[in-house]
Formats: sequence, structure tokens, C-alpha cells
Amino acid sequence: MKTAHWIRKTHLFGADGYVCSACGAKAERPHRFCPVCGAPMSGSRYRASWVDEAEGLSALLDDDW
Ligand SMILES: [Zn+2]
Repeated sequence: MKTAHWIRKTHLFGADGYVCSACGAKAERPHRFCPVCGAPMSGSRYRASWVDEAEGLSALLDDDW
């Protein structure tokens, strides 16, 4: 399976977004895998920030419950 990375696009499609370098699929967020072709994304910076955000959210939910 080939790897790919997200290409950040700003104001090209009306809003910030990311484009898969392998298949050209557009996504609102830099997912860990492309939702269309399934290629694992190698953009460690985007992935790290996405994980941090998700962990912070689950921590808040844990406090509420
Ligand atoms: Zn793709």
C-alpha cells in the first residue's frame, strides 16, 4: 500500500481543506487515513495535532461523566 500526505488548500474550495496526494479526494480534516483510497497519511505534524485535539476532547468528556 502506498503512502500519501495531505495537501492543505486554503480558499480554493470556499473553505480550508485538505487534498489527498494519492487520489485527489477532498477532506475537511487531515484524517490519519484517506477516507476514499485508504492510503495511510505520512504528515506527522497534522496527525500529531489531530491526536492531541481528540485526546483533549475525550478528557473533557471523561470529566463530565
Ligand atoms: Zn486518497
